[in-house]
Amino acid sequence: MTAFSSPSAQARIWRDRADALVAEQRLDGRAWIDGQRVAAQGGATFDCVSPIDGRVLGQIARGQAADVDAAVQVARRTFEAGVWSRQAPVARKKVLQRWAELMVQHKDELALLETLDMGKPIQYSLSVDVPLAVRCIAWYAEAIDKVYDEVAPTGPDALAMIQREAVGVVGAIVPWNYPMLMAAWKLGPALATGNSVVIKPSEKSSLTAMRMAELAHKAGLPAGVLNVVPGYGHEAGEALALHMDVDALGFTGSTRVGRKMLTYAAESNLKRVFNELGGKSAFVVFDDVGSVQRAAKAVAGSLFFNQGESCNAPSRLVVHEAVADAVLEEVLAMAPHHQPADPLDPSTVMGALVDAGQLRTVLGYIDQGKAQGARCVAGGEQVLAETGGYYVQPTVFDGVRNDMTIAQEEIFGPVLSVIRFQDEAEAIQIANGTPYGLQASVWSQGLDRAHRVARAIRAGTVHVNQYDEDDMTVPFGGFKQSGNGRDKSLHALDKYTELKTTWIRINPA
Ligand code: NAD
Repeated sequence: MTAFSSPSAQARIWRDRADALVAEQRLDGRAWIDGQRVAAQGGATFDCVSPIDGRVLGQIARGQAADVDAAVQVARRTFEAGVWSRQAPVARKKVLQRWAELMVQHKDELALLETLDMGKPIQYSLSVDVPLAVRCIAWYAEAIDKVYDEVAPTGPDALAMIQREAVGVVGAIVPWNYPMLMAAWKLGPALATGNSVVIKPSEKSSLTAMRMAELAHKAGLPAGVLNVVPGYGHEAGEALALHMDVDALGFTGSTRVGRKMLTYAAESNLKRVFNELGGKSAFVVFDDVGSVQRAAKAVAGSLFFNQGESCNAPSRLVVHEAVADAVLEEVLAMAPHHQPADPLDPSTVMGALVDAGQLRTVLGYIDQGKAQGARCVAGGEQVLAETGGYYVQPTVFDGVRNDMTIAQEEIFGPVLSVIRFQDEAEAIQIANGTPYGLQASVWSQGLDRAHRVARAIRAGTVHVNQYDEDDMTVPFGGFKQSGNGRDKSLHALDKYTELKTTWIRINPA
């Protein structure tokens, strides 16, 4: 059975594997608490719907406050018992390394779950999501027995040691766009530093989080140190964020819900909240860009990647009027290469939007763009509706003003807004002219200009003459309403540790 008319032989292999998983009911949507699979206490579930063709893959446990409470209690118990928190860093390292190895051994299975659950092309689940999640876990494993604490430069009559201690029980709430990777960005540093964790995946993509936790347990992570409670945001998510025994909350998601996290913390135990939120990143191309083709390829490749469902998607192309037509022409020439197709076909580069709601949201923004006077010069339509899945063409708007809705709000779909400027000051003003500050890119051959503009843009990362090239060694996070937390790099350890000073007086002989 296939929803796509003529699947390739390679696509058929993946589809057969998917069909077998569903037919044999091997898609386990139960929670993972205290080292075992459990149904939600009330027995409630919800459908796990594949955006590829709208079919129901299985059932996901609908976690509620009681399930979250059970998971937090187990996490607290294991933390206090020290089964993980008091292991030597080198011992934790070995377990995390084994976990990363097991994920590699299960890479096909994890990639298939991710693609089925969330709609991204299988080639990217295999070449991006699984390897980056593995790299993240392995990186924190490797790092954790090389991080030293401090001795303060006090007078000779004292020894003041400044040490990092695990915060205790970490709550993590993650989105659906990179389910495994966003989970890994929380779990890597939180577990490496010795915390116990309760994670709530998005209700739109829960499968890989539970599977990752099972593999962690198989790798030697003691039961109860990592717990996964799937469910809806307003149920399981809210219960976790409001829980009085959660010490720190790592949240990745929308700015709207990130705002709530701060309220939940204020209404409960003032838990530390680290928000990694939305973006509306500017891709700024000056008239001394050098290669128009390279810039166009970078903006199209990054924006259309993951169906435009990336927090750092360069969704605003801010381009000098002298080169705007040339850059746009190149972008339009590339758009056809990003047409949506069967996510299970390894040649597909753009898959399905995550669900019917996201499809409506994206089409709604496209309508608003047209209504506000922007010119839709490519795409703009839903396609492949006959498959039962949720697909939108790569879409480009020209003649966008920065005060239009499509330039101000995060669309989270394959929609590019082209905004023209006349001089550097205007370019900076436009780049900074949204509530967000996640990433940006500056394209110029001028050394002074590249540095000047990179400094002037208020964003967590500014790329120069490239986009998307980064690795585990650098932090990821935003300024302004893109949040306050930083994932990746050694800086992420700060979120999951408290600084403790031990002051010892040294008396003279
Ligand atoms: P979302 O805010 O709707 O949901 C994120 C998570 O929060 C989900 O698990 C959801 O169930 C939960 N949630 C929703 N309402 C809640 C509530 N009232 N209480 C507690 N939890 C609640 O975001 P999304 O649609 O899943 O993801 C897309 C967003 O994530 C985009 O804005 C994107 O930019 C952002 N994002 C940011 C980064 C980053 O690193 N800055 C990375 C990936 C995604």
